Amino acid sequence: MPRRIEKIEVFLFERSKDDAYLGATDQGIVDLGPDYFVRRFNGTIYPKNDRSIVVALTDSDGATGWGETYGLVAPKAVAALISDLFGPYLKTLDLNDPAQVWDQLYELQRVRGYWGGYLADALAALDIALWDLSCRSNGQSLQAALGRAGTGAMDAYVSGLPAKTRVARADLALSWKDKGFDKVKTPIGAVDNGDVIGEMIGLRKALGDEHHIALDMHWTRSADECIQLDKDLAEMRPWFLEAPTKAEDIAAQHKIRAEIGAPLALGEEWRTDWDYRNRLKACDIIQPEMGHTGVTQMVRMGHLAHDNGAKIMPHATIGLGIFMAASLRTAFALKAAAHEFQHTIYHRNGALLDGLATCENGAFQIPDTPGHGVSPTAEAFNYLTKLD
Ligand SMILES: [Mg+2]
Repeated sequence: MPRRIEKIEVFLFERSKDDAYLGATDQGIVDLGPDYFVRRFNGTIYPKNDRSIVVALTDSDGATGWGETYGLVAPKAVAALISDLFGPYLKTLDLNDPAQVWDQLYELQRVRGYWGGYLADALAALDIALWDLSCRSNGQSLQAALGRAGTGAMDAYVSGLPAKTRVARADLALSWKDKGFDKVKTPIGAVDNGDVIGEMIGLRKALGDEHHIALDMHWTRSADECIQLDKDLAEMRPWFLEAPTKAEDIAAQHKIRAEIGAPLALGEEWRTDWDYRNRLKACDIIQPEMGHTGVTQMVRMGHLAHDNGAKIMPHATIGLGIFMAASLRTAFALKAAAHEFQHTIYHRNGALLDGLATCENGAFQIPDTPGHGVSPTAEAFNYLTKLD
């Protein structure tokens, strides 16, 4: 009898947070009550708590694999797609090849134009859990299944400097430099009075010539504004500019890439390799997010990046940390140049997982344990609510 999925459990992970990733939230926001606020600088909605959707798949041998995806906003929409759409079909499928299962589940609504968004997030959670289950059943690590067995280090870059003043942000970046981290990224919305150039000058002065300093532009500029900003920042030698303009504006992305001197990084909102195919020459660095792509699509994007001379530096949203663990393993297998390190969240929520990779002295240390290597501790279930 081929193995089948027998049980699909979906949980909402929710935990109050201490620090806002992009800095203070006491000004420049629209408060929407207990769950959400909107930041005025980019018009984007954010949850007040750490949230994600966690999935446990149990097969006919009794083995369990863990997956996770975005649950930042309307998490029950993702849960409904799993229980109502994907779950019944998944239980009928042969489990030997998780990538083939991804294709079969994607095919269900492809001709109706459901190619991304929440649908792909739900698919990512299942895909991560299937890869985990498959690898654990074979007694191998995820990176081994993807072609690179063994332990190893992967560079980590410090992401976000949540402090209220330029001096305090530079001090925070310096404190991470003192701990051995030579790469940092700061978000454009956190700067004082919109003075991006002053912010980058301050960081460069504080951190020295050799430090890698990236700027996340959070989709806030036109192509021409980005091209001008790149000129203005040339002396500060940004490590890369990220997400400069509207995520859907492929023509603007190509224009920016053709005219700026700094490397251009794109991709945290992509779901499938189709999102990358029209932008193969529009970026120097891809930043796939495991919570959107799952293992299968991050691997496909990674192979396209290798074929087109782009570096891989995965994005890291963290809920509980399961999809982060899968991202680290997959990135390691793909020989990623670096991985985002959400220093305000990683260890805090990761303490609710067994098997988390350490992140010290500028690098993640990737274990070679079976699957993606993590599973929730007993304490984690204080923050997990089972959804029907
Ligand atoms: Mg970003």
